[in-house]
Amino acid sequence: MATNKEIRLAVLDGDGIGPEITAATLTVLTAAGKRTGLTVKAKRAPIGWKAYEKTKCTLPDSTRAVLEAHEGWIVGPTFAGEYPKDDPMRGHPNGFLRRHYKLFANVRPVEAWPQLDPLVPDVNITVLRENTEGFYPDRNLAWGYGEFKPRDDVGLALRVITGEACDRFARFAFEFAKASGLDRICVVHKRTVLPQTDGIFIGAFERLQSQYKKIKIDLVRIDTFSSSFPRAARDYRFVATTNLFGDILSDQASGLAGGVGLAPSLNAGHDHAMAQAVHGTAPDISGKGVANPSALILSTALLMRWFYQRTGRAAYRDAAELIEQAVRQTIESGATTSDLGGNLSTSDFARAVVRSMGR
Ligand code: ATP
Repeated sequence: MATNKEIRLAVLDGDGIGPEITAATLTVLTAAGKRTGLTVKAKRAPIGWKAYEKTKCTLPDSTRAVLEAHEGWIVGPTFAGEYPKDDPMRGHPNGFLRRHYKLFANVRPVEAWPQLDPLVPDVNITVLRENTEGFYPDRNLAWGYGEFKPRDDVGLALRVITGEACDRFARFAFEFAKASGLDRICVVHKRTVLPQTDGIFIGAFERLQSQYKKIKIDLVRIDTFSSSFPRAARDYRFVATTNLFGDILSDQASGLAGGVGLAPSLNAGHDHAMAQAVHGTAPDISGKGVANPSALILSTALLMRWFYQRTGRAAYRDAAELIEQAVRQTIESGATTSDLGGNLSTSDFARAVVRSMGR
């Protein structure tokens, strides 16, 4: 095997079950790296409560310095708005990360797992959601939300769509499709009622199409997509859409696939990408060593794919595939944590995944 490539990652444990699932994730990633030619070096930094206790800020400058020094980040869950009111991050360190570091593309693969008793057993779709602007709420504002209430009975909500954000997002979508071997992008829109903003969004894809001749784009209206999706789950493999539609569609897909229990996600930009599970801090089981680390492990596989997308280095893709296959095999074999009916601890599950890599 060629000399190992060193891969340096920032790892932020987060709150609740965060420390348990990040430890398990590093066990799996390190093992996958060994088999594919990557040496994993993790630099830890605090986010959330631990950071607040030390510095009175849930995302202190010292943590930001670590993040800035690393392209890839693994970040455990944080609470949503439950930190003390004097937190300079206003209780949302995560939102700050996405906005400040321009993590404009949210990758949300959704797969049906038999253990989750899916409504639609063959769901296997990746929803790519624009993450920085659009209607939910508009993220272009320097601070606050894109909603106004000039009178008690009048509310205004803004949606801003810019050519610049659409261009970078569309390019990401094509590059993602190319790196993942996908030959179609389903661009979901509502241009019929939002002709200006969705016109700009669709235009970005149409302009780039000639540079990616092997990838076809299908324009599908959000209402058509939603009504046909449950019956045509196999027809949609890769969907690219604006912020609010992406939020709804990824959750709709998760619901049909049996819930967000195992759902991974990646928030990616030009300079950085953050692997993060879709589930929250699970305070009811935190500290017990029983949390299921699969979602964060699979998010880390997405991070490896992002490195592959940027560098073309096969070791990253191989590590991603190895992790995904090993998690699937382990869960299919019935070796699971209690949420999926098994009796493995978080760390035992990670070890079982590593053993699956050897098979
Ligand atoms: P938060 O306030 O951080 O969103 P929450 O409890 O409202 O936390 P989740 O953390 O998503 O929301 O948890 C919802 C339920 O799913 C809880 O019963 C939790 O124990 C369970 N859960 C979430 N993540 C996991 C996991 N990784 N392994 C096992 N159970 C989980």
